[in-house]
Amino acid sequence: MLRVEDVVVRFGETEALAGVTLEVAAGEVVTVLGPSGSGKSTLLRVIAGLQRPDAGCVLLGGVDLAGTPPHRRGIGLVFQDHALFHHRDVFGNVAFGLRMRGESRESVEARVREVLELVGLAGFERRAVATLSGGEQQRVALARALAPEPRVLLLDEPLGSLDRRLRDRLLGDLEQVFASLDVTALYVTHDQSEAFALGDRVAVMRAGRVVQVGSADELWAGPADEDTARFLGLSNVRDGVVIRPEAVRVALAEDGGAVVTQAVRQGPLVRLTLERDDGEPLVAAVAAPDHPQPGDRVRVDIDPAGVVALETPVSDTGFERPPRSTSKGHGEIEDSLDTGSPPVDEL
Ligand code: ADP
Repeated sequence: MLRVEDVVVRFGETEALAGVTLEVAAGEVVTVLGPSGSGKSTLLRVIAGLQRPDAGCVLLGGVDLAGTPPHRRGIGLVFQDHALFHHRDVFGNVAFGLRMRGESRESVEARVREVLELVGLAGFERRAVATLSGGEQQRVALARALAPEPRVLLLDEPLGSLDRRLRDRLLGDLEQVFASLDVTALYVTHDQSEAFALGDRVAVMRAGRVVQVGSADELWAGPADEDTARFLGLSNVRDGVVIRPEAVRVALAEDGGAVVTQAVRQGPLVRLTLERDDGEPLVAAVAAPDHPQPGDRVRVDIDPAGVVALETPVSDTGFERPPRSTSKGHGEIEDSLDTGSPPVDEL
């Protein structure tokens, strides 16, 4: 449905997009996940027609959009700061695009009622926008974007300005709306939980490039490189290998090769930060009952099933390792971490 091809955008010396190619199939929700400044908004602006690319093109249904102005692209937009018309009521906001298209009064009223119901705001037509909560305003923005039945919906950090509780609720509602309408959407966020909850596929962006696209399972099972792995929150990344925290098993042992420096409860598990005798850190996620405490010495075992080899062992920005001592007598993790990139099945 939507295809972005080799898009480049430069602002002076800055290459905001350095050749981005991305596809969204009909009925698919693709989330774009990346840190601030990675080019996510610029990508959406190019697709919407608000930013002209220096190279590359955007195709919708196979047609190049280069000559099509933003309001003729059949694209719905939802931004973080909802950008509602504050002098109009809810009806006036949601009806805006429909009226622009010259639809009859009855058909506008019916459609507004329908989309307001869909976003959980049935009966809000005559409310002044200024009297609505942030979450309600964001629902109005979503209803306004959905009303003209866009071919593609673009959302830029739509939940960014809401508090955690509201965010979680709206996230659930968005999931339902997307599923029930079979929406084709590109959704930009820096928040992993949003990206993985909503995206059929997640495109990870960094420094103006899409570095990996895949389902949640695919990304977690095989991050493209060390930076991506770390961005996903996998902290045990070293020398082209990721060790999942659940695969790190610890047992109290006076002669063990590591000491527990921190224990943080995370739901049913406890996240232990370990420091090995050579100074290298390792994170373990262990079952809560009887877990080791900070200061305890432990022996470490790693389940080979939880060790993932990265496709590209060394990423662009490299990885600074802490200086290593030459002391002997480390735990079993020694081999898996210190000998470069051993074949995974030897671990
Ligand atoms: P994100 O949405 O991931 O935070 P942006 O697309 O907003 O990233 O920005 C990507 C890069 O392009 C950043 O370095 C940003 O400073 C730069 N940039 C974005 N818009 C402009 C602009 N209008 N003029 C100059 N630089 C810009």
